[in-house]
Amino acid sequence: MGLLEGKRALITGVANERSIAYGIAKAFRREGAELAFTYAIEKLRPKVEEIAHQLGSRLVMKCDVTSDEDIKNVIQTLEKEWGFLDILVHSIAYAPKEEFKGGVIDTSREGFKIAMDVSVYSLIALTREALPLMEGREGSIITLSYYGAEKVVPHYNVMGIAKAALESTVRYLAYDIAKKGHRINAISAGPVKTLAAYSITGFHLLMEHTTKVNPFGRPITIEDVGDTAVFLCSHWARGITGEVIHVDNGYHIMGVFGREEDIK
Ligand code: NAD
Repeated sequence: MGLLEGKRALITGVANERSIAYGIAKAFRREGAELAFTYAIEKLRPKVEEIAHQLGSRLVMKCDVTSDEDIKNVIQTLEKEWGFLDILVHSIAYAPKEEFKGGVIDTSREGFKIAMDVSVYSLIALTREALPLMEGREGSIITLSYYGAEKVVPHYNVMGIAKAALESTVRYLAYDIAKKGHRINAISAGPVKTLAAYSITGFHLLMEHTTKVNPFGRPITIEDVGDTAVFLCSHWARGITGEVIHVDNGYHIMGVFGREEDIK
């Protein structure tokens, strides 16, 4: 029997087969969960429908997280179709491309607002709306963060600030939803070549460096992230909430920029 047998999960943030959310969805399906998906814009619908179909789901809904109406519609549809929800995966972030070019000092007011709204407030809004559907269940929520929340990663800029806010949001929400018996955690994933990652100036260098320096000397895959998400959403993780779990092959534990063989 799979670890998520009998559970129903809403997966946001799938854009294509490279998306971290796709890695999570695949792992959830393997473990027996039933899935529903959202897409942000019409252009993404066919791909998300194809992926949903592949993973045995026919529930695909539009949800631009800057729209309260879209969020409400998704929850209403889930209420009608499923009646309850066990898992919410928030795998969404966005800032205009220009914000990744210079430094934080160049951040525009509008870029800051957009980054915080799409990448942080959306977690609060989705969690609040999803709560009634989790009533009486052991609900679990997952969001995606990155090391740039903790340390300066050149060009990550306003998204680093947004991820720091996101990790703090996870702790505050963890406190709020614990009253209902639910949990929320963040996975801080190592760099993965996805659509979102391509916006970041010099991402390939970041990827190269991280892969070389982490103790395993290999890149993180969406399957690595998916398997951790399964654990966090399973009953086995019932004592873990408000946590930020690094799935980065140990990159964040390193105190020097190189492995033994490189610094001899
Ligand atoms: P991705 O481009 O595949 O996914 C990002 C998703 O955000 C897309 O599906 C996009 O449609 C969605 N999105 C953007 N604006 C939206 C809006 N207004 N409403 C609804 N959805 C919207 O890239 P990804 O790397 O899989 O990103 C998923 C999450 O993982 C993000 O939070 C990202 O910051 C985080 N993350 C990525 C990496 C990496 O290196 N790729 C590392 C750590 C964390």
